[in-house]
Amino acid sequence: MTTETILVLGGSFAGLSAAHYALKHVLPSVPKSEGKTYTVTLVNPSPDFYWRVAGPRACVDKDLLPSSKYLYPIAPAFSSYPKGQFTFILGTATAVDTAAKTATISTTEGSVQTIPYKALIIATGTSTPAPMFSARATKEELTAALSSFQKALPSAKSVIIAGGGPVGVETAGEIAEFLNGTPGFFSSKPAHPKAVVTIISGDGKLLPILRPAISKQAEKFLHRLGAEVIYSTRVTGTTVEADGKTTVALSDGKTMTADIYVDATGVRPNTSYLPSTLLNEKGYVLCNSSTLRVDAAGPLVYVIGDAGSYTRGGVMDCYDAVPVALTNLKKDLSPNAASLPDRTYKQNTVEQQIVPVGRGKGVGAVLGWKVPSWFVWAIKGRDYMCSMAPDLVSGKKWAKEVAWKPQPTVQAKAGSQGGK
Ligand SMILES: Cc1cc2nc3c(=O)[nH]c(=O)nc-3n(C[C@H](O)[C@H](O)[C@H](O)COP(=O)(O)OP(=O)(O)OC[C@H]3O[C@@H](n4cnc5c(N)ncnc54)[C@H](O)[C@@H]3O)c2cc1C
Repeated sequence: MTTETILVLGGSFAGLSAAHYALKHVLPSVPKSEGKTYTVTLVNPSPDFYWRVAGPRACVDKDLLPSSKYLYPIAPAFSSYPKGQFTFILGTATAVDTAAKTATISTTEGSVQTIPYKALIIATGTSTPAPMFSARATKEELTAALSSFQKALPSAKSVIIAGGGPVGVETAGEIAEFLNGTPGFFSSKPAHPKAVVTIISGDGKLLPILRPAISKQAEKFLHRLGAEVIYSTRVTGTTVEADGKTTVALSDGKTMTADIYVDATGVRPNTSYLPSTLLNEKGYVLCNSSTLRVDAAGPLVYVIGDAGSYTRGGVMDCYDAVPVALTNLKKDLSPNAASLPDRTYKQNTVEQQIVPVGRGKGVGAVLGWKVPSWFVWAIKGRDYMCSMAPDLVSGKKWAKEVAWKPQPTVQAKAGSQGGK
């Protein structure tokens, strides 16, 4: 009996899901008669999973959202699997050799390991310019980034947030309500605002994937909390002054100075350890956007989550991709692979995003329908969906294999690499 490794790089939404799904639904399907067994190895720099969706509130005040709600240890969540089926390596992938089928891992302890893989799942996601919104190497590093922000915030009289996407809007809403207080029910602005909170949006509207009327509603809710928006302007540079304030240079030639600056201008893919031939011009992993195979990396290599070129990002897209990539992995490991159909992924492009604006209001659309503010609060604004984290980490979310009907008429689009 030979044992081969299914290697999962990255232990967040995509990597945790892939590891649990493989252990629950792929390993048990391998026939014993094949003379082969598989084991799952998960590599992540931090021992803890960060539910970073909660970042905009977590950064403001630890009493509003304690770390126990958004940080979860990874290794214990895999202790129920049979011995020898799962290994957790605390480390960072620094290279992948697709010809040799090996990954080089720099462990947190300081050693370097070369891990041969039979199958590779790339799930290393993205990082944000603001350290408090990304998984850090250790829980202590993340907690330090959050704490230093929480310490500086209460005395701030001015805050600039670059980026008018959901993270910028959510962060502005949380900060403005924390500093300026919760407005009265009928108030259109705070009675005695303590701080000026300004979003600098590169676009002419907030929340690019939502319709203009919803963006305008977000702006109205921000005004209510004492936050302003400057449109169609980009931050071109920042300078930290001697007194700790940040001066921001803008694309219109002006400058602004604030006590606190938050860069919420989007995400950068964590893919520098991969050969450049596997990446598109923005650094995302090129894949077949139907099968989620990374064809250029040879057989049995897949990408799931924000690192992939197939997705516009987001947790729902990631969850939709998990059963597709893992069913295709199961097929590719099967002795009858050639006779089995591919499972295919289709991106959900309907207008869908919900964005809390402060602790009591929110805007958004679900399945193309505009949803009321109370709905956004009930689904997300209450706790930033932290209550969903335990089922993801423990694998309960993937207890059942996600059913599908093979569709013989839908062929995987060979060569299609996704739109990102
Ligand atoms: C502040 C914020 C709020 C958000 N809110 C929402 C929301 O409300 N709804 C929504 O749908 N989406 C939201 N998103 C997007 C959502 O967080 C991402 O879609 C999701 O995190 C993608 O998961 P992932 O597993 O692909 O990657 P990530 O979550 O980025 O995780 C990647 C993992 O890989 C690890 N890693 C990185 N490099 C390496 C390496 N070389 N070797 C090994 N491991 C590595 C990282 O440490 C991390 O653990 C938000 C994002 C941010 C930043």
